[in-house]
Amino acid sequence: MALEGLVVQIIPQKERDLIARMLLREGTMTSVYVFGGMGGGKNSKPRMFEPGNLMRIETRSSKSGHAGGDTLHTVSEHTLLWQSTQIRHHPQGFALACLYLEMVLKTALPHQAENTHASREHGGLFNVVSNGLFYLDQALAQKNLQWQSHLLLFMSKFLLHLGVLPDENECVFCGGDLTSEAMAPLVLEQGGFACSECAAQVETELGAPLPVRALLAQAIRTRFQDWNALPVTPVAVDTRLIQFWCYHFQVKLPEVTSYKMLF
Ligand SMILES: [Zn+2]
Repeated sequence: MALEGLVVQIIPQKERDLIARMLLREGTMTSVYVFGGMGGGKNSKPRMFEPGNLMRIETRSSKSGHAGGDTLHTVSEHTLLWQSTQIRHHPQGFALACLYLEMVLKTALPHQAENTHASREHGGLFNVVSNGLFYLDQALAQKNLQWQSHLLLFMSKFLLHLGVLPDENECVFCGGDLTSEAMAPLVLEQGGFACSECAAQVETELGAPLPVRALLAQAIRTRFQDWNALPVTPVAVDTRLIQFWCYHFQVKLPEVTSYKMLF
């Protein structure tokens, strides 16, 4: 079976083998076994399966000795389609790439070979992650990375494709117009923004006022290639959006290890 996808995580096996977890073009996750995938050995083969790399692989079905007797497809051929040239040399860029991959690892659905509808349903998720990495690499090459703005852009499209993007136009409680309320608070448990009247009646802690609504509205209308057009984004806005994602996918923020590398 021929597949294309981004390497999201590698798990070393035995001496030089690895299991690669991949986000396929159709937006779902699969795991494949790669004999000799760690590289090295007598001929010092380079490692092609690195997180963030876009690969085309050919798989065959075989038992790989995986615990529990699951059949894990084995990679018989592979081609590297794209690889970042910059990310590994830049600590913040690297942490941001790790965060993108970690979030998709915790959110994407598993690949099911029988499910032919999957391709149309989740394909946007692959585009979000691959574009996020590609334009991060571009910004680093131009020595012009504002990682907070890149993360805002990524989060707006990530939440959209996960189907939980908060509506920036209407109050989640009363449906009132929010156009003039740049600082409307994002109420996590309601999945949306509150107008000032409704916010005054909310019992939960809303935190300091932040321009989340205004910046999210701008980011969702900005194409990835126009990343340079986004204004400087306060770190706290990114944090709020990541908390929002955590809340909706039952992820505990302290368990997101790459978050700690950035914030
Ligand atoms: Zn309201």
